[in-house]
Amino acid sequence: MNKIGETTLEINLSALAHNYRFLRSKIAPSTKFLAVVKAFAYGSDMVAIAQKMQSLGADYFAVAYAREGILLREAGITKPILVLHPLPINFEEIIDHHLEPNIYSPKILKAFIETAKKKGQVKYPIHLKFNTGLNRLGFWENDVDFIFEQVVDVPEVKIISLFSHLAASEDPNERGFSENQVNTFKKIAEALSQKLGYRPIRHMLNTSGILNYPDAQFEMVRSGIGLYGYGNHKEVDAQLRPVATLKTIISQIHQIEPNETVGYNRAFKSDGYRKTATLPLGHADGIGRPYGNGKAHVLIHGKKAPIIGNVCMDMIMVDVTDIDCREGDEVLVFGPQKSAEEFASGAKTISYEILTALSQRVKRLIVED
Ligand SMILES: *Cc1c(COP(=O)(O)O)cnc(C)c1O
Repeated sequence: MNKIGETTLEINLSALAHNYRFLRSKIAPSTKFLAVVKAFAYGSDMVAIAQKMQSLGADYFAVAYAREGILLREAGITKPILVLHPLPINFEEIIDHHLEPNIYSPKILKAFIETAKKKGQVKYPIHLKFNTGLNRLGFWENDVDFIFEQVVDVPEVKIISLFSHLAASEDPNERGFSENQVNTFKKIAEALSQKLGYRPIRHMLNTSGILNYPDAQFEMVRSGIGLYGYGNHKEVDAQLRPVATLKTIISQIHQIEPNETVGYNRAFKSDGYRKTATLPLGHADGIGRPYGNGKAHVLIHGKKAPIIGNVCMDMIMVDVTDIDCREGDEVLVFGPQKSAEEFASGAKTISYEILTALSQRVKRLIVED
């Protein structure tokens, strides 16, 4: 085993390739695949992940904000990049870097057309998002006529795709609601395509959508969490490989007497002789305070060591009373042997949150197997 020596997030590109093949096997060969790499590729390494996905044949990328897309362009990503949440202040740089905006409201449509005209564009690619029940971003069904009036005879922009987003794609109890969203989206896409006289690409499914509603894959799917090895479902998780493994080491070991306390606010009170290990990993690295006070644990030599007391900014303390371990030994926070989903559940949150919370301070190490 290679010695890491400090807190390290290993990013396994072979696991990424495995997950991509798994997700592709769930859809038709002709369906395009958009890789969602927003938020530093779910807290991993956006450039390394995007370069690998580009080499594996992903058709499209998506980021949340323009700045993320610019980083990808600067790193040499040449595939189309959809910006899911562009803001008017970003429109010029979106065009300068050939990023493709999600247009989600009448106001945004008008403003982007104005920018495209100002910058002398021809058929600049735009994507229209429709709200079919998530009630977050998107045009409404009754905006179709307005959209058509705005874009007809405007050669500066071209609608490349129409899309929507499921509100509860992972929840079997919401099947009726999801199917209703799909049907609403189909109707909208049909109505707008009829008016336009051509058929933009349609896409609606995220990772859980791909797994639960493959009939709604249309011409493209958008996957994030599945690529990183999590599928919001135990059986799916068993077939995916976590891309990110968070490891750290033991900085110091203490022997604690009965009735002593550990950490800020004296939150942990010892009920006997205890052995604790201090780890160089804290809330500034992404392990938030809800993980403290026994809510989550790490693995040391395969054994569970609960986080005791309050999480500090740069450190956590764990109870290693029953573990044979030394200063410098490796600690597993999450990874293939102990999923981020399980770790997150201790703090009553989800894999998405713990992964994307990992701060840029944590060293990234790209590996393949
Ligand atoms: C983040 C995001 C996705 C990816 O969802 P996963 O559940 O991670 O696959 C897809 N579409 C939109 C609009 C998103 O914001």
